[in-house]
Amino acid sequence: KYQLSDRVNAIQPSPTLAVSQKAAELKAAGHDVIGLGVGEPDFDTPEFVKVAAKAAIDAGHTKYTAVDGIPQLKQAVINKFKRDNGLDYELSEILISAGGKHSIFNLLSAWLNPGDEVLIPAPYWVSYPDMSLLVGAVPKFIEAGIEQRYKITASQLDQAITDKTRLLFLNSPSNPTGTAYTKAELEALADVLRKHPQVLIATDDMYEHILWSDESFHNIAMVAPDLKDRIVVLSGVSKAYAMTGWRIGYAAGPKPLIAAMKKIQSQSTSNPASISQYAALAALEGDQSIMTTMVNAFKERHDYLVDALNKIPGMKCIAGDGTFYTFANIDSLINAKGASSDVELCEMLLNEAKVALVPGSAFGAPGHCRFSFACSLDTLKEAVRRISEFASKEN
Ligand code: PLP
Repeated sequence: KYQLSDRVNAIQPSPTLAVSQKAAELKAAGHDVIGLGVGEPDFDTPEFVKVAAKAAIDAGHTKYTAVDGIPQLKQAVINKFKRDNGLDYELSEILISAGGKHSIFNLLSAWLNPGDEVLIPAPYWVSYPDMSLLVGAVPKFIEAGIEQRYKITASQLDQAITDKTRLLFLNSPSNPTGTAYTKAELEALADVLRKHPQVLIATDDMYEHILWSDESFHNIAMVAPDLKDRIVVLSGVSKAYAMTGWRIGYAAGPKPLIAAMKKIQSQSTSNPASISQYAALAALEGDQSIMTTMVNAFKERHDYLVDALNKIPGMKCIAGDGTFYTFANIDSLINAKGASSDVELCEMLLNEAKVALVPGSAFGAPGHCRFSFACSLDTLKEAVRRISEFASKEN
């Protein structure tokens, strides 16, 4: 009766949101489930951000704004890029959207034609392939396993680029692996990309600030300034300032591309919520040290979790450089439990150990699962206790 579009039939609902929903349903039914599937900080939005949002309402900032965002926020984004990344942008090179996801969707809609190839290093953030499919493009994966810290090499990139490649995604530090590309690794990728001028580079810097590696943050625009006119930097306030619900993301890139993305936004969502824009303005211009508390807590949990998981028979994970995720290889545990896949093992963990995790298949890396440590250390300890018990139990 309802003959839906080929477009929507080509994609799946977000698997990470589906896990959170299943865990919530079990909880509502009275089960004591620990949800480690979530992709958002457990911290509250900073007080000064909330105050700014309330003040925006009282000041009457409750109407449409410019499609591409209020100029003050765009200027704050420009200042952020200068301050944190040494990158220079003009107002016409910035677009504010309703979350980082929306920025990415605008980019894909503005840049890709049906049949164009999008290179996606795997493990990847769940939405890149499905968003590419939604606009008719063809996702192509470059696989990077645990032995290469889940990062692609320059020679892999070189081999993967074809005449049809129009876009490469980079996401560092990465959701789901937590690893970040070094400056030298990005330079090597840039050397390859110089040979292929048809390829646009989307650097998703959503976790820029949640980083504890020895090296400070770098993206490809910072290490290869000559490629800047082929790079779109995508980011937002969701993770850095614990503002997932406010829905503000932003993109910086070449003027014609940003103008095209703005045109799409003007015919789809119009401006992102006015009140959220004032909140994001406060976040970007306010005291940046609020991030330190969060990052320190994430690092402490990360250190505990990586160590504890490596002690569980059948699990193996490497220390990450940032984010609030760790990605464990569970091939041996899948075998030991007689499960057919990571998906089945995650179902067993949910039903038997009452711990919700996202299977690696959702990120293009079967044989793994993702742990989010956006929860208290005590919660993590209890989750580890349950998983250890499950792993060491006779089948
Ligand atoms: N990019 C990555 C790598 C993410 O992990 C996320 C959120 O999970 C996003 C983008 C989207 O963020 P937002 O909630 O602002 O849409």
